[in-house]
Amino acid sequence: MKTALVIGAGPAGLMAAEELARAGVSVTILEAKTSPARKFLMAGKSGLNLTKDEPLAGFIAAFPDAPKELRDILADFGPEKVKQWAQDLGQEVFTGSSGRVFPTAMKASPLLRAWMGRLDGLGVVLRTGTRWIGFEGSGVSIVSATGKDVLTPDVVVLACGGASWARLGADGAWIDFVEAPCVPFKPANMGFVCDWSPHMQRHFGAPVKPVVLRCGGHEIKGEFVISARGVEGSGIYAVSRQMRENHPLMLDLMPDLNVAALTARLSKPRGKNSLTNHLRKAGLSPVKIGLLREVGSDFTAQAIKNMPMPHNGPRPMDEAISVAGGLSFDALDADLMLQSRPGVFCAGEMLDWEAPTGGYLISGCLATGHRAGRAAANWANNRD
Ligand SMILES: Cc1cc2nc3c(=O)[nH]c(=O)nc-3n(C[C@H](O)[C@H](O)[C@H](O)COP(=O)(O)OP(=O)(O)OC[C@H]3O[C@@H](n4cnc5c(N)ncnc54)[C@H](O)[C@@H]3O)c2cc1C
Repeated sequence: MKTALVIGAGPAGLMAAEELARAGVSVTILEAKTSPARKFLMAGKSGLNLTKDEPLAGFIAAFPDAPKELRDILADFGPEKVKQWAQDLGQEVFTGSSGRVFPTAMKASPLLRAWMGRLDGLGVVLRTGTRWIGFEGSGVSIVSATGKDVLTPDVVVLACGGASWARLGADGAWIDFVEAPCVPFKPANMGFVCDWSPHMQRHFGAPVKPVVLRCGGHEIKGEFVISARGVEGSGIYAVSRQMRENHPLMLDLMPDLNVAALTARLSKPRGKNSLTNHLRKAGLSPVKIGLLREVGSDFTAQAIKNMPMPHNGPRPMDEAISVAGGLSFDALDADLMLQSRPGVFCAGEMLDWEAPTGGYLISGCLATGHRAGRAAANWANNRD
């Protein structure tokens, strides 16, 4: 029996391990942490968004600048396959109004439990507390509580994740010893720093909604949250790539009214109302009024519908939902094998792609894990 090492027990590594085991390869997963898939479990805390139910072209377009190799991989293992995979693990899924797909249980733990059980049934061995620390000749150097060792499997899949939420395992340390061209990591789907004046304190935790966010030619209607540190939440994440590239962010705080309708509301006699009450009666929530004051805006309809939102750059990368950058696709063949190291395949967030939240991240990890695992199995099984 051929042997495979999969390094990293996140969704990408587990998917690669399954494909290898199904092809008759003896698989050991090495995981640095003491338990598998910690980030995947964390993702389930706020509702595990597995994929996006949308036509394939739109789905693939959500991965900006994806090279042809990645587009083909996503086409091979798209949203329908992701849903089927979850259902095969006994997890019913539902599609929310925005097309986001979740397991009915919402959490990741039942799905992970079923998946680990299935891998166990396929004979996959999970070795936790074991860290890959580099290559040694044609072998793989590892360290665990029992010391250092060099392993020489027939084939390897690297699935070590990106470089955010290091405490869950994805510390990005591998970039220093992977010995292949990498694009520097950048935060993706992250919050931004704002140095609020004291009067904003009362709005910490308040959602700004509905709001339209415009940045770098990208426009989205959604919501975001004011926090002590700045702004965060789905609306901000959706334009975070453009914000990271220094395009100014503009907000329409009253997206459901046009300028004329809003002007009509604002022009109603104020009577004895304070300005704040007058604005509230026009439909602006306290947090929106606070934001307008914070940026020194006036209260005309034009200003309310086109408010610049200054910030001081991204929050630290470790807080980001995901990262851009990682192993360059130039370092890989179409089957995600390292050109410089035949027999070593790569998958998941450690590859240089980025995508918004909305299920695209886990889908991208499953799709690349599927391709890397299948190709690794072919490579191992067809070699003497
Ligand atoms: C708060 C939060 C919520 C999220 N919600 C969603 C969501 O709802 N939908 C979605 O699509 N995505 C979501 N994501 C993103 C998603 O969880 C990740 O994109 C995905 O887990 C990445 O999978 P991966 O297998 O590539 O890497 P990871 O899940 O990071 O797994 C990599 C594994 O490799 C191990 N490892 C690293 N280095 C080594 C080494 N040297 N030796 C051995 N093991 C190593 C790590 O310990 C880790 O277990 C969320 C992320 C966060 C932080």
